[in-house]
Amino acid sequence: MARARPIHSCTECGAASPKWQGQCPGCGAWNTLVETAAETAPSSRFAAISGSVGKLQALADIRPREHPRTPTGIEEFDRVLGGGLVPGGVVLIGGDPGIGKSTLLLQALAHLASRVSRSTSAARNRRSRWRCGRGG
Ligand SMILES: [Zn+2]
Repeated sequence: MARARPIHSCTECGAASPKWQGQCPGCGAWNTLVETAAETAPSSRFAAISGSVGKLQALADIRPREHPRTPTGIEEFDRVLGGGLVPGGVVLIGGDPGIGKSTLLLQALAHLASRVSRSTSAARNRRSRWRCGRGG
């Protein structure tokens, strides 16, 4: 149990200080701090910064939230992703140069794009094709 510590309050403005000082930190008056009351011990070490204390839960009692997945259309890639891409999620694709990262992603994007919209303009398709051709 934490030991109650005295505080020093200003007789002029009521400002409190954990230790005695010659000058009040609140109003600047001199020799106005007096030891007045014992500070109540905080219930938690981090109560001041944590706000309200949540209820403790066992990890087994917490059910993970299922997010809707968007399949990429590449069965093996979807399996690794846990069923597909999660909206707002980030997937880091890593590997040695030439292993096929760009090819895999282009195939996945091509499948997703074909599902999203089949009515894009020919000019937009040419620009997309040109950008894909720069990948390496
Ligand atoms: Zn003061």
